[in-house]
Amino acid sequence: MRILVTGGAGFIGSHLCTRLVDEGQDVICLDNYFTGSKRNVDHLIDHHRFELLRHDIIQPILLEVDQIYNLACPASPVHYQVNPVKTVKTSVMGAINMLGLAKRVGARILQASTSEVYGDPQVHPQPEEYTGNVNPIGLRSCYDEGKRVAETLFFDYLRQNRVDIRVVRIFNTYGPRMALDDGRVVSNFILQALKNEEITLYGDGEQTRSFQYVDDLVEGMMRMMAQEEEHGPINMGNPREFTIRQLADLVIGQTGSSSKIGKRPLPADDPKVRQPDIRRAKALLDWEPKIPLEEGLERTIAYFREALADSHA
Ligand code: NAD
Ligand code: UDP
Repeated sequence: MRILVTGGAGFIGSHLCTRLVDEGQDVICLDNYFTGSKRNVDHLIDHHRFELLRHDIIQPILLEVDQIYNLACPASPVHYQVNPVKTVKTSVMGAINMLGLAKRVGARILQASTSEVYGDPQVHPQPEEYTGNVNPIGLRSCYDEGKRVAETLFFDYLRQNRVDIRVVRIFNTYGPRMALDDGRVVSNFILQALKNEEITLYGDGEQTRSFQYVDDLVEGMMRMMAQEEEHGPINMGNPREFTIRQLADLVIGQTGSSSKIGKRPLPADDPKVRQPDIRRAKALLDWEPKIPLEEGLERTIAYFREALADSHA
């Protein structure tokens, strides 16, 4: 099959492209390099089943493909707030363009949606039926509402045009190839710990997240794409929940760092809790995360150690 991965040079996209090429698919990786980089797909550049395309999904594009994974969108709060109007355009106009492409060529299309559609949740853990608690006018809204409208568009293209959609709601995912300047909690804490700098804990650190290793997510997304029964949305995340303070302690312990924890103000609208209810994914896809946080952190720490050494060199 010929498969388009938008945002393919980003963190998750680069792992997905690698798996797809390894499984014998032809992959077109499309990216505007806003937060991704060619370095993330360096290992694929010379592969005869891999093509790299510089393009911005807010512009239409004509391609002949069988499947589309739509991942193009900055995911870190720091990055998606740099140019919030552009974030909305990427989510909304990007979705329209990719759905239009899917409609034209009859491709199946999977949307990388997010747990942020639940906002600051009042239901815990979050099942797919929960419709969320999102502030429409806050600093995170460009991303949260952008992704919500993208879901709306996916289901309207299904109802109106019979486009064969899949929607996956991704919970906090981490791993090698997160950008050094990503600003998300796992990469921040690991880098700070490796440099023996202060760990920047926002608020009291009692807010929770559930961290999924990237390989588990890629496996889940591919299973969702392959099955014929369900359009989604399907939660994909690791249900083991940690406070951010626990994460800081784990990272300090596993890096052997002398860093101390320093407190910073909690950003506006920061969700207090987040944990996926993954019963639907288990039943439909026989899928659940396999890599515990401690093991995923080891692999991610090893990656960042090397990336830091390279950046110094
Ligand atoms: P990332 O920032 O590393 O990857 C996003 C990629 O999209 C980058 O390569 C970037 O250059 C590209 N991109 C951004 N805007 C674009 C545009 N207009 N046109 C073309 N390319 C564009 O982030 P990630 O963590 O790999 O996230 C990938 C997808 O998964 C995103 O859609 C994100 O919303 C979703 N997601 C991620 C997480 C997570 O925890 N990592 C959680 C929920 C959802
Ligand atoms: N966080 C933190 N220190 C950091 C970065 C993030 O304490 O240096 C907190 C942040 O306030 C949030 C959690 O870690 O409660 C996860 O933040 P992230 O930006 O990774 O993703 P989010 O789940 O908020 O989109």
